[in-house]
Amino acid sequence: EERMVTGELQEEDSTVELSLRPTSLKQYIGQSKVKENLSIFIQAAKMRNEPLDHVLLYGPPGLGKTTLAAIIANELGVQFRSTSGPAIDRAGDLAAILSSLEPGDVLFIDEVHRLPRSVEEVLYSAMEDFFIDIVIGTGPSARSVRIDLPPFTLVGATTRAGLLSAPLRDRFGVLSRLEYYEAKDLCAIVERTADIFEAPIAKEAAIEVARRSRGTPRIANRLLKRIRDISQVRGETEISLETTSTALKMLQVDDVGLDHIDHKLLKGIIEGFQGGPVGLETIAATIREESQTIEDVYEPYLLQIGFIQRTPRGRLVTAKAYEHFGLKVNDS
Ligand code: ATP
Repeated sequence: EERMVTGELQEEDSTVELSLRPTSLKQYIGQSKVKENLSIFIQAAKMRNEPLDHVLLYGPPGLGKTTLAAIIANELGVQFRSTSGPAIDRAGDLAAILSSLEPGDVLFIDEVHRLPRSVEEVLYSAMEDFFIDIVIGTGPSARSVRIDLPPFTLVGATTRAGLLSAPLRDRFGVLSRLEYYEAKDLCAIVERTADIFEAPIAKEAAIEVARRSRGTPRIANRLLKRIRDISQVRGETEISLETTSTALKMLQVDDVGLDHIDHKLLKGIIEGFQGGPVGLETIAATIREESQTIEDVYEPYLLQIGFIQRTPRGRLVTAKAYEHFGLKVNDS
């Protein structure tokens, strides 16, 4: 199902996103703590003429992990190779990728927590000592061959660091958590995107898009693209606040960036369980969504804005969320 306000990559995003990607740390808006750290590590690695330590980027989808990984390669002046956990089926596939790298290259593995276990195990020695042992043949004639690799930097991305096995997580020297963007940073991203689109936008309209984009650049860019279409059809020379509000209403994105799925989740807990606490699995069964998706995609933002709380006995909808729906806590 297509969702306007999910941070997950949707089909329509891919063509646009490439043109919007910042290519240097300087152009990368927000995430100042992460940027500052990376900038120092990158400089140090360059001065020592060594590959950068392996970097794990984690945080909700759409915050710019892939973009940042490509920037790291750019800043290091090396090639960027990109793949994903589920795309690597066999140890041999990983061996082929690793042995094709040039010294110092960045290998980006998105959804690194979804590497098959047998592939992950090959990665341990590759990350630690830049070699892999590959078993050739089967049965009594099977033998293990050691392949030396060029030194490289693995940049892994995942939604939660806790999804990684401990041995894999421990092999990353740099762990960087991306946060939801602050309103002013997201607003700057909207203005930058509008600039690239050559679609002037009124300040208050940019603020409005930012406010309803769940702290997520991917969502902001997606919403802006739709709003621009409507503004253009209306013959505006600058995207107005009025058009922005109308467009967001059409797109069924509410005041705080929630859509029908968030509403279904929150109302499900309010109406079915008196607001909770209720276990994640029970919620998942009630609204027919996968618990992993709820946990990684829907819930983080609701937690962030204080609409949901996690308690030892399950999820609890807060008074703030009741208020958002115009309900009182004891209404349910
Ligand atoms: P996923 O986890 O789904 O792979 P992601 O976190 O890797 O998502 P990206 O694809 O890197 O997300 O970013 C999504 C879009 O948001 C990109 O097109 C990029 O243009 C924009 N973007 C992300 N971060 C920034 C930023 N700091 N400044 C400007 N634009 C950004």
